[in-house]
Amino acid sequence: MEIKCRNCGYAMDSHTEVMGAVTNPKDGDLSVCLSCGYLGRFRNGHINPLSHNQYAALNEETKTQLLKIEKVRKRVMDTYGVTM
Ligand SMILES: [Zn+2]
Repeated sequence: MEIKCRNCGYAMDSHTEVMGAVTNPKDGDLSVCLSCGYLGRFRNGHINPLSHNQYAALNEETKTQLLKIEKVRKRVMDTYGVTM
């Protein structure tokens, strides 16, 4: 399943759960673009922007996981100079 990031246009051809394997996302799942860090939510085969209110409504564990993902994503980009 290929989905393009609304922010940078990066074509995501695989999706990996934080604590699992590559999977097909389902409606309501959160998404972080590996290329730009854009945060969204899957719905009907698209990634829609996550509003400030929707982000605020996430539980603290999820917010912590998202911050960890962003740190790792940024470190990979900074270390390896990966551009997508
Ligand atoms: Zn992106």
